[in-house]
Amino acid sequence: MTGPPYKPLDAQVIPRFAGIRTYMRAPHVTALVGVDAAIYGIPFDTATSYRTGARFGPEAIRSASALIRPYHPVHDVNVVEALSIVDYGDLPVSPGDTERTYAQVEEGLAPLVAADVFPIALGGDHSITYPIMRAIADKHRAFTILHIDAHGDLYDEFEGDRFSHACPFARIMEERLAARLVQVGIRTRTAHQRAQAERFGVETIDMRAWDAGARPRIVGPVYVTIDLDGLDPSCAPGVSHPEPGGLVTRDVVSLIHAIEGTVVGGDVVELNPARDPLSLTAFVAAKFVKELASRMLSPRS
Ligand code: MN
Ligand code: MN
Repeated sequence: MTGPPYKPLDAQVIPRFAGIRTYMRAPHVTALVGVDAAIYGIPFDTATSYRTGARFGPEAIRSASALIRPYHPVHDVNVVEALSIVDYGDLPVSPGDTERTYAQVEEGLAPLVAADVFPIALGGDHSITYPIMRAIADKHRAFTILHIDAHGDLYDEFEGDRFSHACPFARIMEERLAARLVQVGIRTRTAHQRAQAERFGVETIDMRAWDAGARPRIVGPVYVTIDLDGLDPSCAPGVSHPEPGGLVTRDVVSLIHAIEGTVVGGDVVELNPARDPLSLTAFVAAKFVKELASRMLSPRS
């Protein structure tokens, strides 16, 4: 051996953060007794239409979340003390096989649904919202989906794939999994997607309407799905399909605060860490996860 021996590891420090890195340093738990909210990852991006990388999203959000503090100034609550929040880990997925992954997501979510745990998913491409809705729909009949995105994701099929990340809300509305779909931030609408929105009765606040002051009013149970490309690339550059001219981070935080209904779950999707300078987008995603968990504490209706 050349050189001095390594300093011995400090047994009291190392084991504390050994093993899986978790969201906001919450415990990694798979037993759900007494748990209020579970953060879980779906590291899957096979349904992406162009650039892959969202499969690394959950890991990056967990990593960035180490800087998120548990106190919430608007709700005046320490979310970690007020709630039992755990990191459920990642659900099993099958890279290359979207339909099999859908089955795995439904199956993987069943214990959370049965235990009345509030689920918050870390994506993954946006296709994952469809099996999540199938898993929770029976529990929350007549709920609203608040969908933040640059894209409507309403294609009947995209490049021959009915399960593309461009299609989940067509599948969700066909199966009547939600009573109401409200989309905010849209700025890529085609004639086909306009027709699909009309067919399904989708309410759309596109960026032009947003600029003109339109805001959604959401009561009753609501599931919040946040595609990070709904934000302007200046706020969230780390996505696979950036679309300039979008919402700023504060807009989305305000949208979450303004929900009048009860938030029953959510997901934050489409983070592509390979496109994310400074981990900025991962940090934004981690903040949205905290906002969703905090909002669960203060239902207004
Ligand atoms: Mn999307
Ligand atoms: Mn999108």
